[in-house]
Amino acid sequence: MEVIRLESVSKIFGKGKSAVPALTSIDLTIQKGEFIAIIGPSGSGKSTLLHTIGGLEAPTKGIVKVEGQPIYSLSDEAISILRRRKIGLIFQSFNLVPILNVEENIQLPILLDHQKVDHDYYQDIVDYLGIKDKMYASPSELSGGQQQRVAIARSLIHKPAYILADEPTGNLESKTSEDVISLLQLTAQRYKQTVIVVTHDMKIADRANRVIEIEDGLIKKDVSYA
Ligand code: ADP
Ligand code: MG
Repeated sequence: MEVIRLESVSKIFGKGKSAVPALTSIDLTIQKGEFIAIIGPSGSGKSTLLHTIGGLEAPTKGIVKVEGQPIYSLSDEAISILRRRKIGLIFQSFNLVPILNVEENIQLPILLDHQKVDHDYYQDIVDYLGIKDKMYASPSELSGGQQQRVAIARSLIHKPAYILADEPTGNLESKTSEDVISLLQLTAQRYKQTVIVVTHDMKIADRANRVIEIEDGLIKKDVSYA
């Protein structure tokens, strides 16, 4: 089932002489349950593509549809609700709040959204991510790999249908990176998510069932594996 569709999506930053084309007429469809790696050189448009899909960056031209809905036709409020409820974002810098403990960090998106935490689900994800015994620790007491697990738990807390990760292992050593990706794959299967991971780690790209290569804002290669 097709869940995400980009039609002739272009993004240009700035205007006139300082205009920078980041994406040029991208056409792309994504099926439910795909685990996609986006690779390509620095500055090729990977993050811009991810942000455009995630409702964070409106394209200059073209249409982005999530489940059939052109998301940038929505009001700012509707788009932020869509982002909060459907999309889990993971970044290279874990972006944990230093004055909150692990549990508070994970539950923060739910509390900000004035929703109730599903405690069984919460226990399930922290158990699954192997951070159950760190709930009252402060982020600074955790290793990089543990901090990224907390960030993954936080991105999962809303039960998002889509996980968008921008170089999630960029700050981790290679063994830890593989563990983090394995966990993302496991949680994606468990919670039936569609995952898009930007990476320049080929070991990670090798794990994906589809690899999209971007160069100069264009899709250079798009290969699916069985
Ligand atoms: P990647 O993630 O592949 O490194 P990006 O998507 O971040 O690439 O950037 C693509 C191009 O767009 C680059 O030339 C970058 O400098 C430019 N760019 C990205 N974000 C901005 C911005 N907010 N303002 C101006 N230019 C930007
Ligand atoms: Mg980037």
